[in-house]
Amino acid sequence: MNIVITGLASVYEPENVARLFYPQGRLLAARPAGRDDLVLARAGRRHLLAAVRENGRCAWLRRPLAPGQDPEYALTDLVYQLLVGFTGVRPPWGSMTGVRPVRIIHDSRARGLSEEAIRSRFVDRYHCTEEKYRLALSIADLQRPVMAAARPRDCSLYIGIPFCPSRCSYCSFVSRTIEREHKLVQPYVDALCREIEEMRRQIDACGLTLKTIYIGGGTPTSLSAGQLRQLMGKVRELFDLSGLEEYTVEAGRPDCTDAEKLAVLKEYGATRISINPQTFSDEVLAGIGRRHTAADIERCYAEARAAGHTNINMDLIAGLPGETVEGFTASLRRAIELNPENITVHTLTLKRASNLVIDKARDEYGDVAEMLHACSALADAGYRPYYLYRQKGTLQNLENTGWCKPGFEGLYNIYIMEEVHTILSAGAGGSTKLVQPGGDHIQRIFNYKYPADYINGFATVMDRKKGVSEFYARYLDPETTG
Ligand code: SF4
Repeated sequence: MNIVITGLASVYEPENVARLFYPQGRLLAARPAGRDDLVLARAGRRHLLAAVRENGRCAWLRRPLAPGQDPEYALTDLVYQLLVGFTGVRPPWGSMTGVRPVRIIHDSRARGLSEEAIRSRFVDRYHCTEEKYRLALSIADLQRPVMAAARPRDCSLYIGIPFCPSRCSYCSFVSRTIEREHKLVQPYVDALCREIEEMRRQIDACGLTLKTIYIGGGTPTSLSAGQLRQLMGKVRELFDLSGLEEYTVEAGRPDCTDAEKLAVLKEYGATRISINPQTFSDEVLAGIGRRHTAADIERCYAEARAAGHTNINMDLIAGLPGETVEGFTASLRRAIELNPENITVHTLTLKRASNLVIDKARDEYGDVAEMLHACSALADAGYRPYYLYRQKGTLQNLENTGWCKPGFEGLYNIYIMEEVHTILSAGAGGSTKLVQPGGDHIQRIFNYKYPADYINGFATVMDRKKGVSEFYARYLDPETTG
């Protein structure tokens, strides 16, 4: 599908709304010759036009542009209305393209908007379903005390381990397989420890308070037990762990997580871990390239409990290849039976969606949505949704939601998703996000994406860290900068 948008200074919103229906759509500067499939959107001075042609079938809508009306919003809405009618697909989040729906509620409340005005924004302006609006609202309400407790110099630390035992078929992350990159792992851990030392210096220099630590990946437990001791030992040496609100380590996959590593995580201070089944179907696990079975996940979970872990998250993915609604529901039921403190339900994200995916998304539109409906079983079992985000390329444009038992909210997840405070990020692929709370300023510092570049360009990685104190000097200590 080609997408052509004319007459606007910014085409971002109408383009992304067209991609809700045609994820592979190509944005072109001008209408192509011939009769190729096309979404056309045009803003004139007095009228808006949206038209679509697919497989010889055509439809169009025309609307006057009212005086004072925002042409980008008006054209976006027209494209959405046209494509809903033409495709028969009604996205549950409507024309909302942003990744943080809950943030809209927080920001609207901060601006003094009434609850009715916020609801109208979701349901009338974005055509979001009442169900999705209610989900976002309940999460915003639950997060309110966390947001209110935020202090300007709070921060969290993310430590990335970009290695995995094997590559999952749906993975879009930079992660490398541990066997292929074996030689890089130890130099990587050594460099990472040095970067964390530099983080400590920056935290002190800027007067920051570290609230949470998150070691993620990749799969952190793809490191050896000795390397985990080295890394977590460095963290324990540098930071007062007793002052943290939360210390999470992703123990992700059972094919590299054993009783010894689980004991190391506990001994070195992790207060929350993740063991991620994604599904409890052996066929689906094999289909996505996992080298373990559902029984291995259950073994790993039992070992984690035996090692003394009392706050465990389990990730599931709705929409994996070969997964049915019944299969997903069975996986969800099994996760609930195991009784972890957190269950996070992701919707499969396909970074390069194929035509097959588009067709599948249309033909089986109810399926992934149906899988997410099955999550009401989580509420019945005493879990409540506490954070939510969306990603581009997600099947049917659906969401990822973290559920937890009361009192087990994963605070790091809320902090990063709602941009509550600065997240310092160490390791390959890391992106430090500097946040001026209550202000408009957000700045990023990127590390190299791949482990080899990170190791070889480590001097640059360290040099870029100066940006942390520069940010705080500029936006939080203006009196010291003149
Ligand atoms: S475990 Fe996660 S990061 Fe690793 S290959 Fe699979 S999807 Fe990618």
